[in-house]
Amino acid sequence: MNTPQVHVPPSMSGTGGYPKKGNAESLKRSKELAASVQTRKVVQSFIIPATTGKGFKVAKGEIFRITCNEGPQVADMMVFNSDDYDECFWQSRTRVIYGGHLKAGDELWSVPPKSRAMLTMISDTLEYPPLEGGALPHDLLYCRCDARLYELVHKRTGKNPNCNDNLADAIAPFGLKPTDVHDPFNVFMTTGLNAEGRPFYLPSVSKKGDYVEFHAEMNALIAISACPGGSSGPKSYPLQIDVYGKDVA
Ligand SMILES: [Zn+2]
Repeated sequence: MNTPQVHVPPSMSGTGGYPKKGNAESLKRSKELAASVQTRKVVQSFIIPATTGKGFKVAKGEIFRITCNEGPQVADMMVFNSDDYDECFWQSRTRVIYGGHLKAGDELWSVPPKSRAMLTMISDTLEYPPLEGGALPHDLLYCRCDARLYELVHKRTGKNPNCNDNLADAIAPFGLKPTDVHDPFNVFMTTGLNAEGRPFYLPSVSKKGDYVEFHAEMNALIAISACPGGSSGPKSYPLQIDVYGKDVA
């Protein structure tokens, strides 16, 4: 019996004016920037305690590192142009450009009208075997978790820590409102689409000591939540943030 051939149209992503995933020029630049960390001065260094969030500014040209300093931990990250908070990260445009997961060399793009690179992910220490269901780390498929999720799905009453509230708290000192929270880039979150096309997640493949680094393509306000949900694995851990300045140490 003949098996019917299923035709899958090619993706248009990266075929036009948008950046192309894994292009040699971007990978070369990312490697050079990542190497420059060794000679840069640390200008900020702090811990985001488990299940909480924090906001911080980086200047154009600076590099910041997010480290799983104690164990596997998903980092939900928002980005704003710190000179114009109306320009923020556009999760879905970035997904259309690169697919559902980011790698070193990929950029995080902003909303219209500017719609341009805000950050470039320049390094990633994760190592992992082929994963169930073709899952990959560094997720652009999921939204942030919120109080109603824990109430509706997990039947938890009372105040439950969640990324939506953590991110709202993280941007409040900068004059931004809870309605300014946008869908994040979920660093270290390991996800895929199942046979029905529905998103699933696995425990994060990150390990203690793993990190990713980003180069700021503009002056930016970064807000990160150490996700209190189950996508990190059975336990919640803190995250370490280090910002490397433009000057040589
Ligand atoms: Zn979360």
